[in-house]
Amino acid sequence: MKNEFSKEIPPAENICKFRNKIISWFNRNKRIYPWRKTGDPFRILIAEMMLQRTKADQVLGVYNSFFSEFSVPGDIAKTNLKKLRKILFPLGLKWRVKNFKKVSQYIENNFGGRIPADREDLVKMPGTGQYIAGMVLSVAFNKPEWAVDSNIVRIFRRYFGIDTTKEGRRDKVVIEIAKRYISCAEPRTANLAIVDFTALICSPRNPSCFRCPIRISCNYYSKTA
Ligand code: SF4
Repeated sequence: MKNEFSKEIPPAENICKFRNKIISWFNRNKRIYPWRKTGDPFRILIAEMMLQRTKADQVLGVYNSFFSEFSVPGDIAKTNLKKLRKILFPLGLKWRVKNFKKVSQYIENNFGGRIPADREDLVKMPGTGQYIAGMVLSVAFNKPEWAVDSNIVRIFRRYFGIDTTKEGRRDKVVIEIAKRYISCAEPRTANLAIVDFTALICSPRNPSCFRCPIRISCNYYSKTA
C-alpha cells in the first residue's frame, strides 16, 4: 500500500498559520487552572509532573492539597513519603510519588531551591524529561522552547500529514515542527494553546473536526470528510 504521509518538514508559513489559528481558538476557549495563574516555576514543574498520564481535572484537587501543605522545594525534600503518598493518592500511579521528593531534594541540593531556566539542567532532574522541560521553560519563563507529547505528535501527524517513526515524540521531523511552532512572540500561550486544543478538539478518538477552526487546511480532514 502506498504511504501517503510525508517525511518533509512543512513550510514555515503553514506552521505559522497553524499556530496563529490555535492561539486564536485558545484565546476564546482556554481552560483555567491554578497552575496557569502562577508564574512560579516550581508550581508549574510540579503541576506538569502531576499531569503526566493524568487528566487536568483529576489533578486540580491534588494540586490544591499539595500546595496547601508545601510551598517550596525544601518543604517536600524534608517531608516523609507517607504524607506525600496520602496527598498524591488520587492521582494513582504510585511510582510517581518518590519523584516529587527526589526532584525537590535535587533542586535544593543543586540549585539552592530555585528552578533552573535551562533545558539541559531540567532534563537531568528526577521525574522530568524533554516534554516537562519544554513546558516549564515556555510556561514559566516564556522561552521559545519546544515540547512534544503524544497529543502533539497526533495533531502534527493529522494536520500536516507527516510520517513519523514509531516513537513520535523523538521523531526529528516532529521536533523540528515543534521548534518552529514555538518560535513566536508568545511561547507560553502557544504551548498552552496546543495542550488545550489537543485535549478538547483534536482528541485521540473522534476528533471534533466539525467544529475545528483549522479543518480547511487539515490533511486528515481532507481525507475523511
Ligand atoms: Fe484534528 Fe480534525 Fe482539526 Fe484536523 S480537522 S486538526 S483532525 S480536529
